[in-house]
Amino acid sequence: MSVILRFAPSPNGALHLGHAFSALLNFELAKRMDGRFLLRIEDIDLARCTDGRINQMLDDMRWLGLEWEDEVLKQSSRFDAYQQKLDELKEKGWLYPSHASRTDIKKAVVIANQNASEPWSSDPDGAPLYPRHLLGEKEDPNQQNQTPPAWRLDMTAILNQHPKLKEQVWRELGPHPDGETILNQQMAMDAARWGDVILARKDCPTSYHLSVTLDDALQGITHIVRGQDLFWATGLHRLLQVLFDLPEPTYFHHGLINNDQGQKLSKSKQDISLKALREQGYSAADIRKASGIDDIDLDKLAASLLS
Ligand code: GLU
Repeated sequence: MSVILRFAPSPNGALHLGHAFSALLNFELAKRMDGRFLLRIEDIDLARCTDGRINQMLDDMRWLGLEWEDEVLKQSSRFDAYQQKLDELKEKGWLYPSHASRTDIKKAVVIANQNASEPWSSDPDGAPLYPRHLLGEKEDPNQQNQTPPAWRLDMTAILNQHPKLKEQVWRELGPHPDGETILNQQMAMDAARWGDVILARKDCPTSYHLSVTLDDALQGITHIVRGQDLFWATGLHRLLQVLFDLPEPTYFHHGLINNDQGQKLSKSKQDISLKALREQGYSAADIRKASGIDDIDLDKLAASLLS
């Protein structure tokens, strides 16, 4: 089997130490696994992913000493392919339009909570599950609405039609995020916890979940090594792989680097960027050391990923 790993940043902000760790980890593992290392630019958010940010990102990566194959896939070149897959789901009746705003959803959930003993459930990202039955009038496909809808996966219909999906697992070689549960390489997909997730946004004709799943398959990625913030999203990605009959990669979700306040590093919180660290005089070797990559037994990890 030819091994292919990738680093897939979204250039909607600047790369930070957490990205450096993730990119270095993929790069080092690919070398040890005799595999290929690809770069994919996840720039579906055209307003935020500017050329300036993309170039900065490439520059940071080169400075870190990373080398990737010449052909870099940009998700912004793939909107037609994503649309084709959305159309397939629509034809099966598994995707429906929704004009509901966040406020509409919030209001519906407040009402639902008034009459219930249990609070309304949220998805793993903390967003309330879409209360479709309470917002029915918002999703008439023939409604003359000026704004484009979001397109949501009809999770109930899919799981009812394919009850076996409920038993699906993904292959996880990293630790469980709770730090205690031993995974034994199998993690329950449990896609229902995402509810009727958005696969195409109102402001963008696709979504992270759809694009990442299709592109990992397109690029033949065999091992997905990424941050633990995407651990639970993997259940949804596994569901999409099954629905589209795509190959199943192996996953390793690594721990995240926290800032001084103990929160995970984030572009939006303006955590210190690689560019800023560089301007302060830190070298690429300093960043490598600070990322903790050298504290990992990479040979052992590579061997376990190949097992
Ligand atoms: N583009 C995503 C991000 O920057 C990562 C996607 C992935 O590794 O699956 O957070």
